[in-house]
Amino acid sequence: MGGIDARAGLASRQNGQSGYLTIDLGALVRNYDQLSSVVASAKAAAVVKADAYGLGARQVANALYERGCRDFFVAQLPEALILREFIADDADLYVLNGLQPGDEITCAEANIVPVINSLPQWHQWSRAASSAKRRLPAVLQFDTGMSRLGLPPCEQVQLAGLIVASDVEVRFIMSHLACADELDSVQNADQLLEMRRLADAFLGLDVSFANSGGAFLGRSYHGALTRPGIALYGGAPSAGTKNPMEPVVSLDVAVVQTRIVPSGTKVGYGGAFVTPREMRLATIGAGYADGLPRSLSDRGAVFYDGVRLPIVGRVSMDSITVDISGLPATAIGHGTLVEVLGPNQSLEDLARDAGTISYEILTGLGSRYHRQYR
Ligand SMILES: *Cc1c(COP(=O)(O)O)cnc(C)c1O
Repeated sequence: MGGIDARAGLASRQNGQSGYLTIDLGALVRNYDQLSSVVASAKAAAVVKADAYGLGARQVANALYERGCRDFFVAQLPEALILREFIADDADLYVLNGLQPGDEITCAEANIVPVINSLPQWHQWSRAASSAKRRLPAVLQFDTGMSRLGLPPCEQVQLAGLIVASDVEVRFIMSHLACADELDSVQNADQLLEMRRLADAFLGLDVSFANSGGAFLGRSYHGALTRPGIALYGGAPSAGTKNPMEPVVSLDVAVVQTRIVPSGTKVGYGGAFVTPREMRLATIGAGYADGLPRSLSDRGAVFYDGVRLPIVGRVSMDSITVDISGLPATAIGHGTLVEVLGPNQSLEDLARDAGTISYEILTGLGSRYHRQYR
């Protein structure tokens, strides 16, 4: 049994959507527990940027809050403002990309903590604190070797002076690892060394360093607060080892048409695939607009009853065509659900076939699926 009918809660099929995205909040919470225990002496935050990697920031953040998580990271201020509406006041919300000019008052009034990535941002926030006549919280991010976001470590001395003289309450310092998913990367050790130097320069301030991958690099990487994202959602934190996380997402999509075609028939846009023999084909109702990357053309597969059904021809906007010749003739028909993500095909499998990473698959899943939370 593929288990599809048992899994998808098919009562929902009446609303006309052809794809069913199931998000297992129980598995999410168990992944949070696992990440918390891996970093036993540190706290685990939750990174819920990009709508919790496409899974629904509201549902995800609330489930994790109930489990005890109090620290939530997003990338942009508008994401934090939305989250603020439905999460309890004692949850801390941090904006990783920092403050945009002019956002100070909005940020301060909503009780959101900006991650300060540059000296101008520091001054901006510090001035906002002076004019508000109250202490405003912030996190300082240093660039320890990724050249993406954060203060250059050489500004540490200047900052240490500025902190003393300002109304900004620095909650902790942080940095981000560029190669955390590579267990034996020397860049991890280089960044750790730099982070340690910074921690010594800001004695008394906590450190946040590890994302999902960093949590699995050992205690020296954990600091006081870890920031897992992908591992919460079932993605593999480290490359090349067995994924220790529980899958959170399953995706089942309905067959919208089946046909039998003779040998030599062109399939899909560009006629790029030509059947090498008589084939039975099924058209499945999700395409690149639903986050099945076009790079899956002639490469990926879906599953039914444990049988692999290869994608033939190009991925269209709203559909893909798969070869169902390997199934008994009457096994599937119009309306049957096939597995895109589930027990037979993991997030990592699909990402690999598409030539991308689990993060891009999740954040691309699109808005046309019927979503069910369990
Ligand atoms: C996205 C992000 C994370 C989470 O990373 P994962 O690899 O998904 O665990 C943590 N920290 C920063 C700064 C990020 O941008």
